[in-house]
Amino acid sequence: MRDISTHIHPQTNLALHETLGPTIMMRGEGAYVYDDDGKQYLEGMSGLWCAALGMSEKRLADVATRQLNTLPYYQNFAHRSTEPAIELAERLLKVAPVAMSKVLFQSSGSEANDTAIKLVWYYFHAKGQTQKRKIITRHRGYHGTSIASASLTGLPHLHRDFNLPLDGFLHVTCPHFYREGLPGETEEAFSTRLAEELDQLIVAQGPETVGAFFAEPVMGTGGVIVPPADYFEKIQTVLRKHDVLLVADEVITGFGRTGNWWGSQTYAMKPDIVTCAKALTAAYMPLSALLISERVYQGMRAQSEKIGVFGHGYTYGAHPVACAVGVEALRIYEEDGIIDNVPALAARMQAAMAPLADHPLIGEVRGVGLMWAVELVRDKQSKEAFAPDMQFGLGVQNRAFERGLVCRSLGTGIALAPPLICTEEQIDEIVARFTQALNASLDAYS
Ligand code: PLP
Repeated sequence: MRDISTHIHPQTNLALHETLGPTIMMRGEGAYVYDDDGKQYLEGMSGLWCAALGMSEKRLADVATRQLNTLPYYQNFAHRSTEPAIELAERLLKVAPVAMSKVLFQSSGSEANDTAIKLVWYYFHAKGQTQKRKIITRHRGYHGTSIASASLTGLPHLHRDFNLPLDGFLHVTCPHFYREGLPGETEEAFSTRLAEELDQLIVAQGPETVGAFFAEPVMGTGGVIVPPADYFEKIQTVLRKHDVLLVADEVITGFGRTGNWWGSQTYAMKPDIVTCAKALTAAYMPLSALLISERVYQGMRAQSEKIGVFGHGYTYGAHPVACAVGVEALRIYEEDGIIDNVPALAARMQAAMAPLADHPLIGEVRGVGLMWAVELVRDKQSKEAFAPDMQFGLGVQNRAFERGLVCRSLGTGIALAPPLICTEEQIDEIVARFTQALNASLDAYS
């Protein structure tokens, strides 16, 4: 009752919440969370794809406590700095997917992407190309929820009745081969077609008006869309041709999720800016970062010198407690071999998920590293999806929840993204509970 009468829940049907009420989580341990009845759940989504080190990493709690007791807050405006911010920037530049020059900290993924848009505009102002301000993204991409990052996002419910997207934010086809590929088309030909679509859009808009292309290496919230063969290679050729910057949104894919440190490495992306958040602190503190290339930095430097100030910044950007936690998280990823171990866990996940391709409700099993999804279909042959008003995916998600598994219904897919610290046995258990939920949904449907 206290929750219903006081607390607004994002991404929730607010009217329904008044009837259903909340599930209140009380504590976490490794890959498990426990609700207020003591019921245990396997956290098959790492929270919102973020709690990469699970729910009880004491080293992160200890480092936060130490920093809180030393310098709980300081800002980085006007030449001020803190040791944790410096150390985290150094570490991020060392592991960056391509040579990067500087790091700028914010608090959330949305803020990071919002800031990346501003940096693209600032950079082209520095070059005297002030018209180069349109931004292209993909349908079903998710880049955040602030006004500008929701405009980047290609999901209709993030726009509807919010007067979004803003002008100048354009969306191209989602690279989902299963749904968007034409009959008889190969993955490579599909990628060529999408690159041509991008090229034609840029030409139609005027290359002198297009500043950047934002892309998640693997789309997360759009339903774990793994790019088709050669996709980013062909897309990047188009971007280079028209001097359009590439921003890799690594908010989910950063820090091992795809099996490498970065999704950009998995898919040979050469971004001008990388945005990251979530696993940067394993979600123990809110923090995001932009990794900025030398050429973009030189533009920022020139503009700030001309204007007298880099007119941007947040009170909590580079928060020292969050940065201290980030440093420790990066140490754990590296020193404890967490990221090195992802390919082995990914192989186990792939082996466990593969048989689901034969399930009558599933049209496609897709994924990489530790981010996976199944595509729910009414008819495997025609690939027909369930009508949205049936909320079939939500039914599967709820049945999984009853069985002590957190998974997430996303459009016509259902996603799993376990913590990077989970064991092979826990991966098997996640997929077993998921399969039980699918079977129960099949029984309820037929
Ligand atoms: N970008 C991607 C790829 C995301 O998945 C998210 C959040 O899920 C965001 C940006 C926004 O991050 P935040 O919720 O921290 O604002």
